[in-house]
Amino acid sequence: MGYVNWKGGLLMRILLTGGAGYIGSHVVKLLAKKGYEVLVIDNLSTGHKEAVIYGKLEVVDLKEKEKLSELIKEFKPDAVMHFAASIEVEESVRNPTKYYRNNTVNTLNLLEAMIENGVKFFIFSSTAAVYGIPEEIPIREDASLRPINPYGKSKAFVEEILKDFDSAYGLKYISLRYFNVAGADPEGELGQSYKKATHLITRALKTAKGEFDKLYIFGTDYPTPDGTAIRDYIHVMDLAEAHILALEYLLENKKSDIFNLGYGHGYSVREVVDIVKRVTGIDFPVEETARRPGDPPVLIADSSKAKSVLNWNPKYDNLGFIIKTAWNWELNRRY
Ligand code: UDP
Repeated sequence: MGYVNWKGGLLMRILLTGGAGYIGSHVVKLLAKKGYEVLVIDNLSTGHKEAVIYGKLEVVDLKEKEKLSELIKEFKPDAVMHFAASIEVEESVRNPTKYYRNNTVNTLNLLEAMIENGVKFFIFSSTAAVYGIPEEIPIREDASLRPINPYGKSKAFVEEILKDFDSAYGLKYISLRYFNVAGADPEGELGQSYKKATHLITRALKTAKGEFDKLYIFGTDYPTPDGTAIRDYIHVMDLAEAHILALEYLLENKKSDIFNLGYGHGYSVREVVDIVKRVTGIDFPVEETARRPGDPPVLIADSSKAKSVLNWNPKYDNLGFIIKTAWNWELNRRY
């Protein structure tokens, strides 16, 4: 267990994978502000060392199981938070091997290294993609898991592994199923910096900035009011806050659980594009094209469980504000 900190409470040590990446770096910032000691491990394949401001960074790849086990033995974390992953639906359809290795096999390595060293608390970055095409909207955590792309499957497999690790080894975990995470640290220190920029809001902002000639709208024949796909966009800081609450809940109650994280309402691709144009004041070219393989038509969270059980109280449920923070980051990026 941890050491006594200046507040007289326990100073917890958190090992956090993927902390040089978009979501992980925001969570590290909140953890540090709350007095946690954080060791980040990241292979820097898509992350940036400049994003690790509030923790120590070890550059390690999760395929190096022995190295992982040594680090865990040395650092003695109270819990592990696992963000490192490949995250593009379309790429996962073309290159499933990458997704099963990075997301499933490497997570198994991490879990094994934890069990070897007696670390029993785990926070897992799961995804709405585990649901596939849901029967009901908004989606509750007890909906069936029928992922329609290798990305979603690679994460759903981990959720299965976690159940078995709980029964066999007493691993206690919380899986957080993210809907569409967007926006940037309102204080401007952190944001998304991903070379390929395939996600809608980042792509649209970069198009506004002139980094791309035009924005493609993938699919206008979905069964939605304007024909484009609908997603539940959640601000990265609200998501980060939910991680702290989940961690504290897990450490206190020692009970595994699963929570959706979204706001419970969605925007179509066309609506997002309109808001990006309004916030930036730039009218960039848009072209309608075919659906992108692997995309479900509508994903909207029922997050009432996170609100009632974790006392999650999101602050930034406003797409204009989300886009504004991301635009501010695009214009003033540190990395
Ligand atoms: N999308 C689009 N143009 C783009 C990027 C994304 O029309 O340049 C659409 C995509 O097909 C999906 C929605 O925007 O319907 C959200 O996609 P994103 O990649 O942001 O997140 P995902 O839901 O795949 O995690």
